[in-house]
Amino acid sequence: MAAQAFIVDQNVGKLARWLRMMGYDAVLFGGGEDDKMIAAALAEGRTILTRDTGIPKRRLATTGRLKVFLLESEEPEEQLRRLARGLGLDTMMAPFSRCLEDNHPLVERTREEAAGRVPPYVLGTQRQFRECPACHRIYWRGTHWQAMTRKLKKLMKS
Ligand SMILES: [Zn+2]
Repeated sequence: MAAQAFIVDQNVGKLARWLRMMGYDAVLFGGGEDDKMIAAALAEGRTILTRDTGIPKRRLATTGRLKVFLLESEEPEEQLRRLARGLGLDTMMAPFSRCLEDNHPLVERTREEAAGRVPPYVLGTQRQFRECPACHRIYWRGTHWQAMTRKLKKLMKS
């Protein structure tokens, strides 16, 4: 079975980065009519994440055709905890595999390819590099990445 995929409503938009961090396919809904978000969810087999209590009440959702996960908390960390537990997400599903900014799958880059595009100390200390083919950001498992991973683990234990 393929991993779950999501469409993240703007009212819980911070969840998108965390889901990508875990390796889940999570697109952010750019705004506009709910119907557009629902159509995208149905067409792409995505679960809607939202605080909008109206969406789970729609016929498409009550009949089970549309998958919706309703979040009640306003607080992003609490939302994440609820989501991960509620849907049984694996926080280490495929870390370091998606661009945190735009959700594109990352591609491997050698140190030679990363040279000149990352700070010299990073090139000297890191072994693995990946690039986003869309925005061309280079990723490595540096301090920022480690801090996010630690926070994620801590959050799931609490
Ligand atoms: Zn990107």
